[in-house]
Amino acid sequence: MKKLKYLAILIALTFTVNTMGLFDFLKKTEDIEVQKTIGSHLEKVDYNKENWSSKDKTYWKKVMTPLQYNVTREDGTERAFTGRYWDEKRPGVYHCSACGHELFKSETKYKSGTGWPSFYDVVSKGNVKIEDDSRFGMKRTEVSCARCGAHLGHVFEDGPKPTGLRYCINSVSLIHSEDLMNKK
Ligand code: FE
Repeated sequence: MKKLKYLAILIALTFTVNTMGLFDFLKKTEDIEVQKTIGSHLEKVDYNKENWSSKDKTYWKKVMTPLQYNVTREDGTERAFTGRYWDEKRPGVYHCSACGHELFKSETKYKSGTGWPSFYDVVSKGNVKIEDDSRFGMKRTEVSCARCGAHLGHVFEDGPKPTGLRYCINSVSLIHSEDLMNKK
């Protein structure tokens, strides 16, 4: 009987700790196997000719991982130091993981220590959309893909020279040119 009582307490305790989210630090934001599926829908289409702005929620939900959808379509943020590219050093171009648009070059990527891929410049100013974001009680500048509207991250004015900018971008919003090529 005593054993049963301890078991009940243990179950209740585990349940409480779980619902409080205290074990969240043990979870990876998105499993690496899931991350590898990111951008798979781009292999089936000519992504530079597709009409990306006409795609609806149902389409994006179907072709994206849950985290990728949350970040790119619902302005979410992946947890720091958990993404695929925060420590990526391969040369190449980072494309939008939703529509394949060219966004950042590896030459402008630098170690910011934030846990998110950081760049001091974009491939071309017209490839991203910059907007004021005052949600969550913070004054920030949102960066999104100019072609498909995917939320990418934010830009801050504490970056290195020559621009002084820090484009703080979610890994799930990006796909490295080499990884994109592997899907072809
Ligand atoms: Fe895009």
